[in-house]
Amino acid sequence: MNISAVFLDRDGVIIGDIGYLNDPKHVRLLPGVSGAIKSLNEHHVPVFSVSNQSGVARGMYKEQAIPLVHMEIERQLAKDGATIDGWYWCPHLPQGIVPEYAIECECRKPKPGMLLQAAKEHSLDLSCAWMIGDKEIDVATGGAVGAKPHSSKQEQKLSIPNPRRHLPHPRSRKPSRKSFRNRKKHQSLLVLSQWSG
Ligand SMILES: [Zn+2]
Repeated sequence: MNISAVFLDRDGVIIGDIGYLNDPKHVRLLPGVSGAIKSLNEHHVPVFSVSNQSGVARGMYKEQAIPLVHMEIERQLAKDGATIDGWYWCPHLPQGIVPEYAIECECRKPKPGMLLQAAKEHSLDLSCAWMIGDKEIDVATGGAVGAKPHSSKQEQKLSIPNPRRHLPHPRSRKPSRKSFRNRKKHQSLLVLSQWSG
């Protein structure tokens, strides 16, 4: 199975969702995330973060705050040897209060603008991409472009065959059982990373 790219929602999937996070001090990676991203990195599957950041349009923080948060996420991931290949965000919201950002855009999820932009910039086949999110809009975003949508909160409902039964782990004969332990919430990411070989 070939995966062209994995798109991850940011808040609630890569880091804890505290609502309108805009201070690098509050960045906390969720358990299992860096291991899963690292595994995708090792399989040469590009990983992108795509997030709605309507706090900008709402006047809660400046757009310039967003890359600083991403730098902190990258710093924490780097400690575990993991890398995100690109960051996309939508600062818009039609009913926002900052005129510049209070627009009907093409990038706010569930619209697929961010995925389309990434596909253009990185020559990706979205029909072989995965979109992982914790909200219905993420599933819709992936579905809109033919990418495989995947909810990080509903692993048990997904009909993903156990990859260990079908594919040998590409890096070692014995898949690491440890990485599957106590990681229910992010098992989908780990399962996904196993698929990428
Ligand atoms: Zn937008």
